[in-house]
Amino acid sequence: MEAIFQFADELGPAKVVHVHEPSINLKAVLVVDNVAAGPALGGVRLAPDVTAEECFRLARAMTLKNAAAGLPHGGGKVVLYGDPKMPPAQKERLIRALANALRHEQDYIFAPDMGTDEHCMAWVKDEIGRVAGLPAELGGIPLDEIGATGWGLAHVTEVALQYCGYFCDFKLEKARVVIQGFGAVGKHTARFLAAKKALLVGASDSRGAVYHPDGLAVEELIRLKEAGQSVVDYPQGEKFDRDAAIDFDCHIWIPAARPDVVNEANVDRLKAKLVVQGANIPFTEGAERHLHEKGVLCVPDFIANAGGVICAAMEYRGAVQAAVFEAIIDKVCRNTRLVLDESKTKKILPREAAMTLALQRLKRAMAWKRWSIF
Ligand code: NAD
Repeated sequence: MEAIFQFADELGPAKVVHVHEPSINLKAVLVVDNVAAGPALGGVRLAPDVTAEECFRLARAMTLKNAAAGLPHGGGKVVLYGDPKMPPAQKERLIRALANALRHEQDYIFAPDMGTDEHCMAWVKDEIGRVAGLPAELGGIPLDEIGATGWGLAHVTEVALQYCGYFCDFKLEKARVVIQGFGAVGKHTARFLAAKKALLVGASDSRGAVYHPDGLAVEELIRLKEAGQSVVDYPQGEKFDRDAAIDFDCHIWIPAARPDVVNEANVDRLKAKLVVQGANIPFTEGAERHLHEKGVLCVPDFIANAGGVICAAMEYRGAVQAAVFEAIIDKVCRNTRLVLDESKTKKILPREAAMTLALQRLKRAMAWKRWSIF
C-alpha cells in the first residue's frame, strides 16, 4: 500500500493499473497521472529493464509536457517488460494482449515510445481503436518517420543559443554536437541540425559510441542504423563504450535515450555549454542544478521534446502532416522563449520556470473539475 502511494501528490497519479497474463509472459504497468485537461496521451515503452518507478516519472513528465504545450490531454505512460528485438509475431501477441487488457481504460490513449512504433500502434488500433502514432495507411502521421520531435529539438536549439549569454562563444553553424542515443529522436535531431550547418562529432547507441572531431556523416549513420547496425559500425572515427559519449568534446549535448544518464556522479565530465533534452528525464535534478550553477544552459525535456506529442495529438484530431511542422515550431519555440526569459529574469533554473508555466496551465484545468486530477 505504502509503496504504491509513494509517488502520489497533489497532481496524481489518478490511477495505476498492473497488467499480467502469464500464458504469454505479458507484464506491464499503466500509470494515468492527471487527466484534468483530457485523456492521457503518452507512449508505451518496451524494454527488459523498465520499472514501475520509471513509469510514474514518465507519466508525470507527460502531464507537464502536455500542459505546457497547451494540449487537451493529461499525462500517462505504459511500461511493458520485454526485449524490443523479440520476434515480430511475439511482439504482436504481447501488444494485442496489452491493448485488450486496457480496453476499458478510456482515460488512456496509446502512443509509441522507446521499443514500440507505428506497427505496434496499428495492432492497438485493430484491437481497440484508441490510439495515436499510426502508420500513414491508417490515417496516421508517422511521427518517428518524419522526425517530429527532432524537428522541434533543432528549432529549440536555435532559440536556446540566444540565451547562452557570455558563455556562448559559438554559433549553430559549425557548432559541435553530440547525440546520446541515436534512435528515432536522436537521428532526426542530428539531421535537422546538420541542415542548419551544425557538425555532429559524436553519437552513441546501446552498443557503443563513435567520435570524430572533423564530423560524422549524418545520412551515413542513419543508413547504418536503419540497416540494423550500430553507430560503432561507422567506418571512420574512434569507437568507445556507450557511456563515453558524456566525455566527448562538444558545444551542444543532446540526450535522446533513457532516464538519469547524467547524474551527480558523472555530471562534471560533461563538456557542453548547451544541453537540449530530447529524452524524457535524462538528467537527475542534482545534475541539472549543478550545470546551471556552472553556467551551462539546459532546456528541460518537457519543453524541448514536445514535438512528438504535439504531432500525436494533432493526428488524433485528424490533422494533416503539413500543419504539424508549423504547429511544432510555434509551440516549442514560444515555450522555450517563455521559459528561458523567466529563468533569466527571476534567476531560477529553466526547469523551475518550465514547472511554473506547466502548473499554471494544469491548475487552471484542474479548477474546472468536480474532483481535481480526474
Ligand atoms: P528509440 O528506441 O528509437 O531510440 C533510442 C536509442 O537510444 C536507440 O538507438 C538505443 O540503441 C539508444 N540507447 C538505449 N540505451 C542507451 C544507452 N544507455 N546509451 C546510449 N544509447 C542508448 O527511442 P526514441 O523514440 O528515439 O526515444 C528516445 C528518448 O526520447 C526516450 O526518452 C523517449 O521517451 C524520448 N522521446 C521520444 C519521442 C519520440 O517522438 N519518439 C518524443 C519525446 C521524447
